[in-house]
This record gives sequence, C-alpha cells and structure tokens, in this order.
Amino acid sequence: MTALSEFSSIQDLSLALRDRRVNAVELATDALRAARSYTDSHVFLHIDDELTLAQAREADQALTAGTAGPLTGIPIAHKDLFVTRGWRTTASSKMLAHYTSPFDATVVDHLRTAGTVSLGKLSCDEFAMGSGNENSAFGPVHNPWDPERVPGGSSGGSAAAVAAHLVMAATGTDTGGSVRQPAALCGVSGIKPTYGTVSRYGIIAYASSLDQAGPLARNARDLVPMLDAMSGFDSNDSTSLEACDGEPNAAGRIQADFAAAQSRFAAAGARPLQGLRIGVPREFFNEGLAACVGDAIESALKTFESLGATRVDISLPRTRLSIPAYYVIAPAEASSNLSRYDGVRYGHRAEHYSDLIDMTSRSRTEGFGDEVRRRILVGTYVLSHGYYDAYYLQAQRVRRMIVDDFQRALSAECDVIMGPVTPDVARRIGDNRQDPIADWLADIYTLGVSLAGLPGMSIPCGFGGPSGQLPIGLQIVGRYFDEGHLLAIADRYQQVTDWHQRIPGHA
Ligand code: GLN
Repeated sequence: MTALSEFSSIQDLSLALRDRRVNAVELATDALRAARSYTDSHVFLHIDDELTLAQAREADQALTAGTAGPLTGIPIAHKDLFVTRGWRTTASSKMLAHYTSPFDATVVDHLRTAGTVSLGKLSCDEFAMGSGNENSAFGPVHNPWDPERVPGGSSGGSAAAVAAHLVMAATGTDTGGSVRQPAALCGVSGIKPTYGTVSRYGIIAYASSLDQAGPLARNARDLVPMLDAMSGFDSNDSTSLEACDGEPNAAGRIQADFAAAQSRFAAAGARPLQGLRIGVPREFFNEGLAACVGDAIESALKTFESLGATRVDISLPRTRLSIPAYYVIAPAEASSNLSRYDGVRYGHRAEHYSDLIDMTSRSRTEGFGDEVRRRILVGTYVLSHGYYDAYYLQAQRVRRMIVDDFQRALSAECDVIMGPVTPDVARRIGDNRQDPIADWLADIYTLGVSLAGLPGMSIPCGFGGPSGQLPIGLQIVGRYFDEGHLLAIADRYQQVTDWHQRIPGHA
C-alpha cells in the first residue's frame, strides 16, 4: 500500500487536491519515497526529486489559484521510450545509457501542460522489443502480483507502477500489444488508440507504421482524461491525424465521445448495453488458450450479456498469419529505424576500434542486447535484395488481408470484438530464455489489431494461474476512432465488477 492507495481513482484524488485536503508536493514526496523503495523490482529507471517537486509546486499553485484541470497534481510516470528533458531517456538500452534529450516528446509535453506531475521514467523492453520486460539492459521488472513472474512487455514498468500504486497512471507504447499485454498481466486497464491519434514525435522509434502510444491506469474511467491529454494532431509527426471521423483530433474528443456513450447507456435503463453486438472470434479460443483465461473471458462475456449486449460468433481467419506478418514487418522497420545508432552522433561508442566500419560494428554489438540484434538481423535479411518480394512484400499483402478480416467483421457483423489478450497468465522470469520465439507466439491475440491500426484495450476480468492470484485481461477492440465508446463500455463493466479494484497482496 502507498499514499496513492487511499484514492480509488484519478477523479477521487483530483477532488481531494482541489478541495486542498491533499497537497501536490506532499503527495509527490510520498510517491517518490515509494518509487525509491521499489528499486529492487527495476520498475523505475530514472528518478529526480528536484524535477518532480518543481512540477508539484506548480501544480499546487494552479490548485490554489483555481486554474487546475482534471489532471493537475496527479502523479504519473513515462515509459522510458518517450524522450524527456531533464530525465535521461535510455529505451532500456545500453546504447542510450547516458542519453538526455534536448526536447520533450509531444505526449510528455501535453501531459505536462495538463498539470500532471511526473515521477520519472519507467523500465521497458529494450527499444520496446519484447513481451516480458526481461529484455531491459537494466534488469528484469518484477510483477507486483508475484515477484518471480514477468509483468508483461514491453511497457512492463508502466503496468507494474500502476498495479503497485506507485503512480495513478503511466504512459506506454503499443507496437504489437505492449500496452494491452502488460495491462492484462498486471491487472490494470490500458488502451491503444487508433493509429495516428497520438503523436509519435519524441517516441523512440521501433516500427513506425505500428507504433502508437496509450495510457495505463487502474480503471477505464481514469484512461479518459489521460488519453484525451495525450491525443491531438501534431505537425511534427507525418502520420498524425488532423481529424478522427470528421471530428478534429484534439483534446476533448475522447471525453465527449465517452460522455455521449454514457448517456446513451443511461437512457437504456436496466439493460444499458442493449443493441451492442459483441463479436467473439472463434480463432481466439484454440488449444493454445489456458483454461483459466478461457473461463474468465467466458464469464466476462456473460456479464456483458446480462447488461444487454448480444454475442455474435465471428471469424478472423488470418489470425494465425498475424505472427509471421508482424515478425517480418516490425523487424524490417526496426532495422531501418535503428540504423541511426552508429556510434557517431549519439549513443554508445566502442572504446577500441581499428577504423570507421569497425567502430560502428563494435559500438552496435556492444550497445544492443540479444533480442534487438536478432530483430535487426531478421529485418535486414527480409529487406535485402532478392528477398524483399518474398518476405517483406508478401507480409504487407498478408497485412492487408488481416485488415480486411477486421473490417468485414466490424462493419457487417458486430460493433466491438472481445477476447483474450494473452494465452496464459504471467510466466516466470527466465522461462523463455532458451526459446525467444515462444514469446513471439504469445502475441497472437494482440498483433492483428496493431497491424490493422484499430483501437484496442485491456481490462482486468479475473484471476488464475497456480495460485489463482494472477490477473487475466479481457481485450476489447473497436472500429477506428471508437476509443470513447470502448472506454464507456469498459467503464460499464467496471461498475458491476471489482477485478480492477484488487490490490497485489490483497487479491
Ligand atoms: N511483443 C511484441 C514485440 O516484441 C510487441 C512489442 C510492442 O508492442 N512494443 O514486438
């Protein structure tokens, strides 16, 4: 339990801050102490009391002056993939171990303007490549529900920090599942919005056609102001959207859509979700799915039915192909994005070398970890002359077919899609060390959504595993720009369940 455990939600804490029952500087001081006491779990990578307290002092001024917004004074932290002035930005890599950015990522800037207080930077898989947060150069993150297990990845530090009540919310990025998967394995809520909603400017690039940032928090309602503050058109990102379905991509859109959906649900009375068609893809319930996860999803679907929704059996026939397609496209883009780390301009440079080529080669070999090197090799291979058509182009064609599968289902058969996020509960740290491909296969339920650029979220829906105390996530996927609607659906579920209120050690 931490000082933040006293507050059930961002809204609850925000009220206390505005009523001046709580002061932002004292809150930040307590939160910094809790974050420091947690260092064995490698959740936080960089903490700087002075930087945090300066933000908290500003928050207190706004709160006293009556100019505070819903996020003023709220303690958050950023995945170490977002560049920040002041705090170092390492992407959990030795390559960037000493790097400090001269500017803030757009997301960091937006959340700062909204008045949040940043506690610092959170661990992740190196360059966001991974599903267990074990690929960090600075030690594996431990899952607050069981320290012998992974928190999921790549935003594992973000999910662990929210689950352990070290912050009220955190930023994450999702290229193939990295917000949804750790949210699921740590029992918190997380959303990846439609590709292009949140600016990628200042997010260390992994696979640019897939990278998208999103928030993690204790419940769906807390995600609303966070995602709203993070979103918005940004001329610094060429794939940033100016409009979302006719609405300007600007702060307030998510909140407005969320509120509109809430009032529709309220008007429907005892069966608030009447008319909502939930597509359940049969390919998600195969032999690879652990029984405890399948059971938890099944009972969540029953809860949605009791709220008035109907269940539709759907098919996403290319689900299996999302793994090879993603693991060609993402490494291809990564090999190109990571070519900038050459030891010349910034990042690690080898101490001893014979010539320029040797310097670059040694710097990259020393600076990158195993998984990153593996991806660069795969990516360079699939893009090389003679193989480009066979692998990269073919993967792009498959991507198109995967998009078509989702489009067909979401236009004709259902309004949202629900299913598992992960095939099982969190695995033990070290379990897949000899078999990295096992982790790739466990991405089966999240990759398609990323390849299609659709919004997807994860909310807690049960517990399982050997102890019966490991969180399980429910995935909810919507149409493009349906973030507000998805959040309202998740919020409706959280009004009648309490999975999201469980605390590690007190399940
Ligand atoms: N596990 C996937 C990968 O390693 C997804 C990671 C992510 O979304 N950043 O590529």
